[in-house]
Amino acid sequence: SVAGPPPELSTLLEWADGMRRLGVRANADTAAEVSTAVALGAEGVGLCRTEHQFLGDRLPLIRRVILAADAAARDEALSALEQAQHEDFKALLTAVGDRPVTVRLLDAPLHEFLPAAGEAQDAAEEQRAAALREANPMLGLRGVRLALLHERLYPAQAEALFTAWADVAATGVRPQLEVMIPLVSLPEELAAAAAYVRGAAEAVATRTGVEVPYRLGTMVETPRAALLAGELAEHAEFFSFGTNDLTQLTYGFSRDDVERQVLASYQERGFLTASPFARLDPHGVGALIALAVERARSVRPDIKLGVCGEHGGDPESIAFCDELGLDYVSCSAHRVPVARMAAAHSAVREQRDESGSAR
Ligand code: PEP
Ligand code: MG
Repeated sequence: SVAGPPPELSTLLEWADGMRRLGVRANADTAAEVSTAVALGAEGVGLCRTEHQFLGDRLPLIRRVILAADAAARDEALSALEQAQHEDFKALLTAVGDRPVTVRLLDAPLHEFLPAAGEAQDAAEEQRAAALREANPMLGLRGVRLALLHERLYPAQAEALFTAWADVAATGVRPQLEVMIPLVSLPEELAAAAAYVRGAAEAVATRTGVEVPYRLGTMVETPRAALLAGELAEHAEFFSFGTNDLTQLTYGFSRDDVERQVLASYQERGFLTASPFARLDPHGVGALIALAVERARSVRPDIKLGVCGEHGGDPESIAFCDELGLDYVSCSAHRVPVARMAAAHSAVREQRDESGSAR
């Protein structure tokens, strides 16, 4: 088993856990990351980025799907992907145990997965890759958009996930499964993706006899998704705010470049006290989240709400999430102890403020 914090810190963190209201989960993509997160006190996984399971030497598994020459080649590539994911998910769910786990279906920005110019297997593949190269891949064929183009992609992943859940449940472990759709900005996108997931659950039930319990939800990480939160809530049992993309799209600041080129100078000038990618800005991104929370709850009062962007590990941003009444934050495993403390601090301050105003 993985070592947790030293005993004195563990005691302190347990006190903090007794005081906080806000849940703390971790972003984790593999069984090993889940074990580390749990050892540090994460209550579950708030974001498993399934595209990360294909980086490194497993990259061809996605590349073959995206660059398949014809339908038969694509089907073959999809079954290889499904098999690999079945193993990934069995290991992940076993490590999660009975805790909640949000598995996000593929959000693969194409520049991370296409061969570089000259790296393709042959001229025909290079031609197909060239047709897919984008000037702004983070704004391009990502997330649910790719799934709508390749309609067997999400069903393949979801079937692997539900089959893995059934296998793990047979050993007595029942992870609380949440299936999440990324980069949605239209309710129609979410409805279509939800239908793929439902179809996969039905296929697995027919094949295995197991009706896998799961919740379906969406990332809210585009300004339009935040504005249409009420409509999205009709199709979603939970939302997870993706504050990385939401910051990028609200400011129009590139996640990949702006830190170096703009934000350092803005902080020197005093325009910004912190990078908006590190700390939730209550007037911009934070205001969009607040609006989305209100609109979502007016349609589905019990909708489960979390944050899974980097901000989920920042104490000031955590206080903001706590005040909004979100259910949990999810951050990198190594920030979980700080998040537990920050959530407790925020709860204590809110109590103090309430008793102060009563006087
Ligand atoms: C986000 O956008 O905040 C998020 C958590 O997703 P990713 O970082 O994978 O785009
Ligand atoms: Mg995102």
